Amino acid sequence: MRGDIVSATPDNSHLRRPDTQTVHAGEPKHKPYGSLTTPIVQTSTYAFQDTADLVAHMRRKEQGLEPLRGEYGRYGNPTQEVVEGKLAELEGGARALAFSSGMAAIACTLLTFLSTGDHLILTADCYRKTRQFSLQFLSRLGISCTLVQPDDLDALRAAITPHTRMIFTETPTNPYLRCVDIPRVAEIAHAAGVITLIDATFATPCNLRPLSLGIDLVTHSCTKYLGGHNDLLAGVVIGSADHLARIKESNGMVGAIPDPQTMYLLLRGLKTLALRVQRQNENGHRIAEFLEQHPAVRQVWYPGLPSHPDYAVAQRLMQGFGGVVSFELNADLQGTSQFIDALEIPYMGPSLGGVESIVEQPALMSHFTLNEEERASIGIRGQLVRYAAGIEDPDDLIADLARALEREKPAPSRASSRRSGQSCRS
Ligand SMILES: *Cc1c(COP(=O)(O)O)cnc(C)c1O
Repeated sequence: MRGDIVSATPDNSHLRRPDTQTVHAGEPKHKPYGSLTTPIVQTSTYAFQDTADLVAHMRRKEQGLEPLRGEYGRYGNPTQEVVEGKLAELEGGARALAFSSGMAAIACTLLTFLSTGDHLILTADCYRKTRQFSLQFLSRLGISCTLVQPDDLDALRAAITPHTRMIFTETPTNPYLRCVDIPRVAEIAHAAGVITLIDATFATPCNLRPLSLGIDLVTHSCTKYLGGHNDLLAGVVIGSADHLARIKESNGMVGAIPDPQTMYLLLRGLKTLALRVQRQNENGHRIAEFLEQHPAVRQVWYPGLPSHPDYAVAQRLMQGFGGVVSFELNADLQGTSQFIDALEIPYMGPSLGGVESIVEQPALMSHFTLNEEERASIGIRGQLVRYAAGIEDPDDLIADLARALEREKPAPSRASSRRSGQSCRS
């Protein structure tokens, strides 16, 4: 359909570095009306010139060829296809497909390849809704699931049965930022003829290229770093043309399609991805180092710190370690909430990866409905904090953290460090 707004298929294959790709990849130099930016094609349907035009379009489809024009909005729109071209190139994949959310991308991909009687292996410590979708929804369709720890390759090998069809993994994981040894997972999976799908939302294509390490399919919640401005929801899957054709056929029926306006916002966000992630890598690293030496902090999880269990894997596979830092205070659940309430710069909420820093206490946010025992069984303690650094000045973020941590010591005075008029949280 790209022919609709694009005069020639872009050849950006000579643009190899992410900083250039984020700006130019997937986009033709010459766009309709001489517009420098990619147009938003706000239409639900595409009109044919005459019957001959219609028949030519249908013949192409019948032959399994890429359509040269649009037909109906649920099968995609030109703004979306430019985003897909950019993301495919950034990840080094043949093709990408965008979705209305990250979960839509994950759910549609799993449903495309899994049938009743199939078996799925998931690495534990993954996004909670992915785990719920697999254990609660897929199990109702007669698809069984096994959870294995992200660093236990023997358990992974042992979990494979003749019915295993897919391995789903995430890296770095949430909230402990565990990093999977991707080449070894890919090797084990391919020896068994199993499709590998990795959720690399926390890594971004700037920090990790899973396809180049042997993974079949990469998915991202574009809601996070890729969009980067906390103002849109979208998802993407990237991989081979064959796999993507099957996923696209599924989504033609499911209809979890992103709208053209959102795709424009994503395209705009992607322009600065490399710059933003560079700053977020730096902010995450500086914050992790600061927290690790602070007496009020019990433990820090950041893959760029030698103390992280997957430091060696991360060093080997990743170009940077992202903006998310998880840590536990020497405090209980209430004391930890007081620390979070004392922070002035970050917003309190779920999500991550945007320009604004966001902080959360997983026990009260993503895991609120669980009791303390259930939370403990999956390793979520009351004093755990997840800090997702934005692109603010690292010194400001650290000064803010230092002020809030002071409250954890027996305070000489109860006076709050909150400076009125300075709060960004309003
Ligand atoms: C947010 C997130 C998702 C889900 O994405 P949505 O866009 O919210 O549907 C999936 N995986 C990870 C790792 C995420 O952080």
